[in-house]
Amino acid sequence: MTSALCRKADELAAKYPEFADDVYLAIQPGWFGLVDELLDRIDKALKGEDRKFFKIHAIEEKYCLFRFHYDNGTQGEVDYYVALDVVDPIFHEIERRSGITCGRCGCKGRILKGAPMPTCEEHDDPRYKGRPAFYSYEV
Ligand SMILES: [Zn+2]
Repeated sequence: MTSALCRKADELAAKYPEFADDVYLAIQPGWFGLVDELLDRIDKALKGEDRKFFKIHAIEEKYCLFRFHYDNGTQGEVDYYVALDVVDPIFHEIERRSGITCGRCGCKGRILKGAPMPTCEEHDDPRYKGRPAFYSYEV
């Protein structure tokens, strides 16, 4: 049996074979839409030689937010601007939005104090329901 994460990793590898052929995925399914948007925007933004060295290693959740690890080719011939000017602004926007996206369903959510991931009202863990949200700003 194949897990949803394995199927998603296979889908990304097939869609972006140049830079996402072996991605470690450790996120909730509600964030799959954010992953799709992140890779689609990077795919459109990377040009020429930059594509040759750019490689994504991991996409994971940490401290209730989206994390993203990649090699921008600093061992190769690509200028560091690829990370600073092209990839990081896209990633930081997606990271902020992950904090207001339910990890279970992808609907608008927030992080309730003490909760392990952002949730919408329908998917709030009963242990944290009613607590104040400490991360709920709009993008
Ligand atoms: Zn939800």
